[in-house]
Amino acid sequence: MKMANSADSHVLEPQGLWLENLPASMRDRALYTVKDDTHETVFAGGKAMWKSGLTYLDRVRPPGAHDPEARLLDLDDQGVWGEVLFPSVALWTYYIDDLELQVECGKLYNDWLLDTFMRRSPRWVGVAFLPTVEIASAVAELQRAVSLGYRAVMLPSTAPPNRPYSSAEWDPLWAAAQEAGTPVCFHVGTGQGEIIIARGAGGAVINYVETFYPTQRTLCHLVASGALDRHPDLHVVFVEGGASWLPSLMERMDEGYQQHAMFVRPKLSMLPSEFIARQAHATFQHDRAALQTLEITGTQAILWGSDYPHLEGTWPNTQETLEGIFKGTTPEVRAAVTYQNLADLFGLPDAEQAARPA
Ligand code: MN
Repeated sequence: MKMANSADSHVLEPQGLWLENLPASMRDRALYTVKDDTHETVFAGGKAMWKSGLTYLDRVRPPGAHDPEARLLDLDDQGVWGEVLFPSVALWTYYIDDLELQVECGKLYNDWLLDTFMRRSPRWVGVAFLPTVEIASAVAELQRAVSLGYRAVMLPSTAPPNRPYSSAEWDPLWAAAQEAGTPVCFHVGTGQGEIIIARGAGGAVINYVETFYPTQRTLCHLVASGALDRHPDLHVVFVEGGASWLPSLMERMDEGYQQHAMFVRPKLSMLPSEFIARQAHATFQHDRAALQTLEITGTQAILWGSDYPHLEGTWPNTQETLEGIFKGTTPEVRAAVTYQNLADLFGLPDAEQAARPA
């Protein structure tokens, strides 16, 4: 079996990325973290945003999180050839409401990821951070990132306050992504919103499950509002939330569209489920149910991701996990989900394509 590619992996930005490189006037509002004996606190826009225990952070920060050479050893060890890369600390940039600061923080991340990982090896495809305070700035950063070599962009899975993804205000960005051929990725747990919903009994599982609801809402908004109808070549990818919710949303949306037809506007050129099958994709780490519903979604809809180096991912047991997930499926399905769909969407070569002389 060919080495797998991961559609969902994370890098850890260096401590001084924003503090040292932002214009002096913005540094007191930079993204940075402060450690005490037991915790690390993330600051963004001059406010403390989030606190994590060091014992947890130590588990999700192997050297490969920030060091490309160490990371390549981990990839080889896990039988993973290539990765689509998402940030860690930079995700807090979505909480910054100041346009200029958000734009500068995003640019610094995109430039660092390019220099540190993407230019080091064709095994890495970075996802460019786009600002959300203003659409014109998001379009400009998409175009700048593409000119530098980026082939994918990201937006928060929870839409910014006051601008739902059903709003036509986003159309210039959908048009720009369609024009550039860059899929738009929505990673779970991103965007402004409550991170901790439950603190009592069951909290760990409740809060974990809560992260995947916004991705479903976002896809529903994009389909129902006609955004995917108006941009038929736009592809949207929902990352880390599993994939077996796709057929459920397809059925629910078709039911609403058909049974409530008298209320529906705009009318779409196809059923909601047909837009999802044509333009939406979702990544999973362990979601075996997604492989049971390929008749409904099609194999193009789902992609595997390791989520390296996070606890909810498959590292350091990737091969055992893949064997378990794909037991009973065909080699064709495994090939589509673990590398062909990634090549089609992200231009990430597979191990054999990369080894072939140009
Ligand atoms: Mn992830």
